[in-house]
Amino acid sequence: MTKATPTKAILKKTIRVTDACKKCNGKCCRYFALPIETPEDWDDYDDIRWYLCHRDVTVFVEDGEWYLNIKNTCRYLSEEDFRCQNYELRPHICRKYHTDDCDLTGDDYGYELHFTNDRQMEEYMRIKFGDKVFEKLEPKKKKKKAKKKKVK
Ligand code: SF4
Ligand code: SF4
Repeated sequence: MTKATPTKAILKKTIRVTDACKKCNGKCCRYFALPIETPEDWDDYDDIRWYLCHRDVTVFVEDGEWYLNIKNTCRYLSEEDFRCQNYELRPHICRKYHTDDCDLTGDDYGYELHFTNDRQMEEYMRIKFGDKVFEKLEPKKKKKKAKKKKVK
C-alpha cells in the first residue's frame, strides 16, 4: 500500500551546511518517511498495525496524508562530525531539503495522529470500529478448541 511518489515529508538535508546544521547531529538524516494510502477499511488499518509491530517504525498523519516513518540512520552520516560523507553525490531529495522548519529548527509537527506502536493502533481501531473489532481474528481459535474437545 506504499505509494512511490516522494513528498515534502521525505525531503532530507540541506543544499548547504547552515549555522543550524553545525549545531545539529544530523537529525534529518536519521529517518525517512514515505506516504502511504489513506486507510479505508479494517484490512487497511490492520496492515498499518502490522507495520507498527516492527521496532523503529511509526505512522503519522499530517495534513490528512498518512506516512510510514522509519527510524534508520543514513549510512553516509558521519557520527564524528555529523556531516554527509557522500555530499557530492547525495541524492536529489537531500539537496532540496532546507533548514526552514527542519527537524532541528521546526516547531512541534502538530501531527493529527501519531502511532508509535501496534497497541496504539489497536486502541484506535477499537474506537473506530467498536470493541468487537478483533473478533474476526478469534473464531478460528474457537473452532480449533471445539475440534480438540471432540477428539477427546
Ligand atoms: S535537522 Fe536541520 S539543522 Fe539538523 S542537519 Fe538537518 S537541516 Fe541541518
Ligand atoms: S546522503 Fe548525506 S545528506 Fe543525504 S541523508 Fe545521507 S547523510 Fe544525509
